[in-house]
Amino acid sequence: MELISNYKNGNYTVKLYSDGTKIKETEADSFIAEFPDSIDLKITNYCDLNCPMCHEKSNIDGKEGNLDSPFLESLPSGIELAIGGGNPLSHSALLPFLEKMKKREIICNLTVNEKHLIKNKEFVQKLIDEKLIYGLGISAFEVFDETVAFARKNENCVLHIVTGVFENFEKIIDKNLKVLFLGYKKFGKGKNYFSLDILRNIEKTKKLIPRLISRFSRISFDNLALSQLDIKRLLTDSEWDKMYMGDDGEGSMYIDLVEQKFAKSSISTKRFSLKDDIKEMFLILKMK
Ligand code: SF4
Repeated sequence: MELISNYKNGNYTVKLYSDGTKIKETEADSFIAEFPDSIDLKITNYCDLNCPMCHEKSNIDGKEGNLDSPFLESLPSGIELAIGGGNPLSHSALLPFLEKMKKREIICNLTVNEKHLIKNKEFVQKLIDEKLIYGLGISAFEVFDETVAFARKNENCVLHIVTGVFENFEKIIDKNLKVLFLGYKKFGKGKNYFSLDILRNIEKTKKLIPRLISRFSRISFDNLALSQLDIKRLLTDSEWDKMYMGDDGEGSMYIDLVEQKFAKSSISTKRFSLKDDIKEMFLILKMK
């Protein structure tokens, strides 16, 4: 396991390893950050898939974000960007942006839908091979054989599945896959798409989770999924303290380069206009 990033942030240190493992350590009672360890960065609102629960409301009229935004110059080396959209692969300046970030030692991860991955397999493979991206999140719903093959071939691929919508568990278990459960976002189109069926599916997954845990090579949850699936009940207090990465806005934030806004997370309704400095933006989130 190669150490790819090691930096100090506020009262703690962060070590990030090539397999995606992140270790935060502090002598203090709690972690107090000066800047986000990771940023959920929306670079475009263009997408042609028209998913009914899309919380970003991305569509074929969606615009590209400005990848020369001044605040990008203020990012400390070592931090992670989780680049998404829309379809981030559609952004005309994606490649030069990733090259620039690599030179700055910013760790870029990308999230793409499996359908877009399959259409752009060679390009995405090049991004991985040239270490322009480290982690690849693959949003999966149908789970095609090609999706599974790609994820198995590249160790830093993580299947992203949306709780309450995803049901194809038999297609992803016992295949040595890494999986991230995302909570169902009642936001954007997800607000109107939410239904009793989705609620029932969340409950079904919640019951299923204890039996699923050992059937992936790694399993993780965003904060919304932690809450919707009540993952805390499955852990001891010390396991929870060791593994929980903090609330949204404590070590992470969301930036929408299309709308030029920032917020604690992609479902925050309180959004602020971009500033030129990441520490200033992060402080604003902490004060609000
Ligand atoms: S959920 Fe993702 S793939 Fe689906 S429309 Fe939205 S951005 Fe596109």
